[in-house]
Amino acid sequence: MDVDIVPVGDVGPAVKREASAALRSVYDCDVQVHSHQVIPDGSYDESREQHRAEEFIDLAKRVGAGDKNIAITPKDLFYHRRNYVFGLAYLGGSGSVISTYRLHTSSDGGFSQRTAEEIFSDRVRKEVVHEVGHTVGLEHCDNKFCVMNFSPTVREVDQKNESLCGSCQRDVL
Ligand SMILES: [Zn+2]
Ligand SMILES: [Zn+2]
Repeated sequence: MDVDIVPVGDVGPAVKREASAALRSVYDCDVQVHSHQVIPDGSYDESREQHRAEEFIDLAKRVGAGDKNIAITPKDLFYHRRNYVFGLAYLGGSGSVISTYRLHTSSDGGFSQRTAEEIFSDRVRKEVVHEVGHTVGLEHCDNKFCVMNFSPTVREVDQKNESLCGSCQRDVL
């Protein structure tokens, strides 16, 4: 499997490096980082002051050269009625997106040995693995340590591992 990471807006080298490394380690795939793209025209919702996640998925699918194409953006994303999303993907689709906007931290919520930067990197890694997981056909998993567990808050993201549980591992296409 070839995965293309499509940075949309100002995405730093550490984010691209961590995302690439996590995808390689979990899916044993080839990962390319695409050239930077500008924020899609018309994706901004002025009343919400957020961007529509779907338009980033469309962009990743359009410009990406991989079997799977994941957009990464620093912009805050929403989807339908949800106040925000860390990421979005369609089951079995080729495109997905994550937002780093809400993954930053100044306090670590109890994992006190680690720096804010390390915690941020771990969240980025888990989110890209999670969204690409949906595109390879995985749904949400009840195992709270599995990366495919639904994690609406960073606390739940921090609790899970960046890897697939045994059951999800067997279900990867
Ligand atoms: Zn999910
Ligand atoms: Zn699982």
